[in-house]
Amino acid sequence: MLVVRKTSKSTVSRLARHTPATALQVGRWQRSTRGLATPSGQYDAVVIGGGPGGYVAAIKAAQLGLKTACIEKRGTLGGTCLNVGCIPSKAMLNNSHIYHQTLHDIKKRGIDVEGVKLNLQQMLKAKEDSVNGLTKGIEILFKQNKVDYIKGTASFVSPKIISVQLNDGGESTVEAKNVIIATGSEVAPFPGGAIEIDEQQIVSSTGALSLQKVPEKMVVIGGGIIGLEMGSVWSRLGAEVTVVEFLNSIGGAGIDEEISKQFQKSLTKQGLKFKLSTKVLSAEKKDGKVVVTTEAAKDGKQDSLEADVVLVAVGRRPYIQGLGLENVGVEVDSRGRIVIDDQFNTSVPNIKCIGDVTFGPMLAHKAEEEGIAAVEYIHSGHGHVNYGTIPSVVYTHPEVAWVGKTEQELKTDGVKYKVGRFPFLANSRAKTNLDTEGQVKFLVEAETDRILGVHIIGPNAGEMIAEGVLALEYGASAEDIARTTHAHPTLSEAFREAALQVSSGHAIHF
Ligand SMILES: Cc1cc2nc3c(=O)[nH]c(=O)nc-3n(C[C@H](O)[C@H](O)[C@H](O)COP(=O)(O)OP(=O)(O)OC[C@H]3O[C@@H](n4cnc5c(N)ncnc54)[C@H](O)[C@@H]3O)c2cc1C
Repeated sequence: MLVVRKTSKSTVSRLARHTPATALQVGRWQRSTRGLATPSGQYDAVVIGGGPGGYVAAIKAAQLGLKTACIEKRGTLGGTCLNVGCIPSKAMLNNSHIYHQTLHDIKKRGIDVEGVKLNLQQMLKAKEDSVNGLTKGIEILFKQNKVDYIKGTASFVSPKIISVQLNDGGESTVEAKNVIIATGSEVAPFPGGAIEIDEQQIVSSTGALSLQKVPEKMVVIGGGIIGLEMGSVWSRLGAEVTVVEFLNSIGGAGIDEEISKQFQKSLTKQGLKFKLSTKVLSAEKKDGKVVVTTEAAKDGKQDSLEADVVLVAVGRRPYIQGLGLENVGVEVDSRGRIVIDDQFNTSVPNIKCIGDVTFGPMLAHKAEEEGIAAVEYIHSGHGHVNYGTIPSVVYTHPEVAWVGKTEQELKTDGVKYKVGRFPFLANSRAKTNLDTEGQVKFLVEAETDRILGVHIIGPNAGEMIAEGVLALEYGASAEDIARTTHAHPTLSEAFREAALQVSSGHAIHF
């Protein structure tokens, strides 16, 4: 998601030489305004929030020649994604997978390892190192692109004046022709306040990323992407994990039903337990444990589960606290989302809004695309995000990834479609890698062969889905993919074979 060029010491000092104006300006500005309320800067664009939506918007704005500042209160850039979301969770997923594989999977590959032990502190440190490297990388990108980074909490005084409570103390104001709100989201509390998160025993995703001990038993409330990813991590590290989900399927909104079932089977094989169609009523601490009370949707039967740690993963909600929206009249809907039109305009003419704090899937790459488009609207009056081609990925093993329509959506919409499938079991690279679980599934319009959806469960599905996204963007047919050479031996040949299967009726290798 973030590409940071490797920067040597000499590059850093060269950077410092070439970008002193920006870096020192901010430094001077912060020092001079400490304890004062002086107007400190006039900008073409001010971005509030330095997450993937905000920092990308700020860099793009500066690249287009707008004098730009980004205000972020966290103390580090990168928002939820880099600090407590995508990046730390992927670090834990990757390293817990290696541990699990070393314990259970490498003997058959001809590698004998003895005395394998988990060093959780080191695994947590490796995660922190990744986070620190990437968040600092954005600071370098800001300097390279001459974005002023203001560390503090922003609040609207008027549509063009923003007051900033500086992290270092004191207050200041900035003036902006255009403002982009990118304040993101926060963990949603359990409905009705029935469960209190303490981030020790009853944790949100943030606490689940930093548990200091592998729990013996863990209950995950919510079988969506975050719950399944974090449940997988702790299961691989040795916890007995039970996922309780209100719906009768896992994977959250947008997953294809067939893939969801296959996914559940796969995770069950790995040792995760599922209680679907089950509502959690409460989670109470008792004698050092947490007792989770559940109710079956079918017959209202109550049950209880005991756990050392409970993860509440029931979703996230927009974050607008302290922004002073009421001072400028920015409209917010009943779910706390900032209301925007199709050009990211809020109800106030010079204020735009992007990312988790407004409509749409709460995903880093969606926020980034919106950041770029919003800036392009400011700069040239034109911008574009194709919401039909935003991919979703679950970074478990196997990974699950999809883009476009699901079978259930096509049925509901009355679209005549064809299905093409290719199992990784018949793919030479997957076979070679001894990693054959899963399939590629294509959904195409029956009459035209146009690709409507791609669903993958299998190794590297998250990388492979990029080809599906491109195909949808270009309005490709399955035959277009089938006639495109894919290198051998690669997992991506399974992608081509699924396309071949649906466009011609036959795959070659299955
Ligand atoms: C555990 C977890 C795993 C995830 N994994 C993935 C994944 O693999 N892929 C993916 O695409 N998405 C993932 N997400 C979702 C992703 O993190 C979000 O969609 C993304 O961060 C949203 O970006 P944003 O810029 O809209 O907001 P955020 O990243 O939330 O950033 C908003 C920033 O604004 C700052 N801010 C708020 N108010 C103010 C203010 N008044 N003044 C100054 N600063 C302010 C906040 O401090 C914050 O840093 C994950 C989330 C979680 C929790």
